[in-house]
Amino acid sequence: MRNPPLWRTVQKQNFTNATQLAEFLQLDPSSLLAKPKFPLNIPRRLALKMKKGCLEDPIFKQFVPSNNETIGRASDCLDPVSDQDFKLSERLLKKYPRRALLMPTSSCAMHCRYCFRQNYPYEKSHGSFEKELRLLKEDPSIYEVILSGGDPLSLSDRVLGDLISGLEAIPHLKLLRFHTRFPIGIPERIDQSFLELLENCRMQVVFIIHCNHPRELDEDVLRALKEVQKLGIPVLNQAVLLKGINDSPETLEALFEKLVFHGIMPYYLHQLDRVSGSSHFEVDQKEGKALISALRERMPGYAVPYHVKEIPHRNCKTITSD
Ligand code: SF4
Repeated sequence: MRNPPLWRTVQKQNFTNATQLAEFLQLDPSSLLAKPKFPLNIPRRLALKMKKGCLEDPIFKQFVPSNNETIGRASDCLDPVSDQDFKLSERLLKKYPRRALLMPTSSCAMHCRYCFRQNYPYEKSHGSFEKELRLLKEDPSIYEVILSGGDPLSLSDRVLGDLISGLEAIPHLKLLRFHTRFPIGIPERIDQSFLELLENCRMQVVFIIHCNHPRELDEDVLRALKEVQKLGIPVLNQAVLLKGINDSPETLEALFEKLVFHGIMPYYLHQLDRVSGSSHFEVDQKEGKALISALRERMPGYAVPYHVKEIPHRNCKTITSD
């Protein structure tokens, strides 16, 4: 039997138990939500970056369930972006013209507490993607498939490879986009076998990572992403504007600078989607717009992302200055 890839072994070391994590972070266990609806799941690398004994650490706040998650708000909902209205199948959504979103897995390397898809009723059986491939084949208007999730990098390279082969066989598909946060928590995922999948892909690959704070980007993460860039694949970043985490001009500037210094284009800064239990993360939209306007005055244009909001049933993301 073949050994599992290194990244699977690393993933098994994730923290999934609140008591153990509290002990590791030298915190009183009562400061963590013991049994959250969206389970605790944090790669050890991210836990190692958290300041011990500190509830205000920006990495800690993104991934550790807090009692704030039990606070409700009338405008919160389980599906804030109305995914359910765009389903072609359990795993395939068509929200925008020319693009389709394929969610091949429910798994992620980490569980971000503000995730708008934390309640999505993912298809549990892994099976084949026969139905989704048929639906994509039947719609020649689609030229881009976005693999999102969950995190597509949670799939084994065998499953991912079979899926990519199926997509490659559909002539009208020209672009394959990955939305992933995996390399931020487990950069070992970008291994030779995965890079070969990307390199041999017939479609143009676009690689979009999700990073919210400059401390998430360390040398190992940047080195892994450089391997993707070396293949001629554009790497972009999307971030979410989060209270107490990145809602200051200094933090955003440091994040965008670090990205562009490594050839990663800041693409979107998202306004929070109001998923139930996330109200403590929300930054006022006007404030987000002002932060981006201020940064435009002192950074190169390409280094400052659009501040966008998803308004369900619109054909594209809404830029907040529109
Ligand atoms: S990695 Fe992405 S899909 Fe997974 S929990 Fe975080 S935001 Fe949600």
